[in-house]
Amino acid sequence: MPKRRHQQPPVVLAIAGYDPSSGAGITADVKTIAANGCYGVTCITALTVQSTRGVKHVEAIEGRIITETLEELAVDLQIAAVKVGMLGSAEAAWAVAAFLKRHRLENVVVDPVLKSSSGADLLSQQALEILRSKILRQATVITPNIVEAAVLSGMSVEASEQMEAAALKLLKLGARSVVITGGHLATPVDLVLVPRREPVLLQGEKIATHSTHGTGCAFSSAMACALAGGKSVIDAARTAKRFVESALRKAPSLGTGSGPVI
Ligand code: PLP
Repeated sequence: MPKRRHQQPPVVLAIAGYDPSSGAGITADVKTIAANGCYGVTCITALTVQSTRGVKHVEAIEGRIITETLEELAVDLQIAAVKVGMLGSAEAAWAVAAFLKRHRLENVVVDPVLKSSSGADLLSQQALEILRSKILRQATVITPNIVEAAVLSGMSVEASEQMEAAALKLLKLGARSVVITGGHLATPVDLVLVPRREPVLLQGEKIATHSTHGTGCAFSSAMACALAGGKSVIDAARTAKRFVESALRKAPSLGTGSGPVI
C-alpha cells in the first residue's frame, strides 16, 4: 500500500547548547520551532547544568559527534532553515563552521551567544574568533543583543543611537544582514539592517515579567521558521519579535529564578 503523504512542515535545524530547564538552548528551540509550525531537528554543541537560577557548569561535546550528527541530518532531510545558538568550545565552532561551508544551506540564522544572563561564559575566546572569522560570513542574518553586538563590533552599544553604526560594522564581518535586539533597553527597540536598504527600527513595549530566560533563543528560532516559510529578513524579524512579545506575556511563572519565556 502506498504511504499516505501529509503536508510536510519545513524542517528547521537548531544547533545549540542543552539547557535542562528548557528555558534556553535546544529544548527551548524545539518548543519555539513547533509553535511556529515547523519541525525541529537538533544538534547539541554543549551540555550545561542550569536551572532558572542560572548556569552552574558547561561541558563541551566532541567535534566528531557534532559533525556526525549534522551530516546524518543533512543527508536524510531537506533542511529549510538553520538556527545556530550557543557553540561553547572552539572544537564545536570548527565543526559547525565546516558543516555550514560544506552544505551552504539557505536561511542560516546565527545568534552569537556569548554569556548567559547569569554571567556564565557560553563561548570560549578561541571559539569567538572562529565565530567572527568563519561563521558570521555564512549567516543569512545574525541576531546579537546589544551586549553581543558591542563585543563583536568592538563598539559601545548602550543606546538605540549606537545600534546602526554597530550593525554596519557587523555587516563588514560578512553577515548578509543584522538584527540587533534591544529588548533590554529602557525603550525596547530592535534594529534590522539589510544591505542597500534603509535601517528599520522595530519598536517594542516593556513587558513586566521575570520570565525572560531564553528570549534570544526564542527570537532566533522564530526568525529561522519565518525565513523557512519564505518571509524576507525584515518581515521575519517582525514576526519573531511579535512571537517573543506574546510568549513573554503568556510565560508560565516557573522556578525560583528567571523563568522560561516559552
Ligand atoms: N544556556 C544555553 C544552552 C543557551 O543557549 C543560552 C542562550 O542562548 C543560555 C543558556 C542563556 O540564556 P539566558 O541569556 O536567557 O540566560
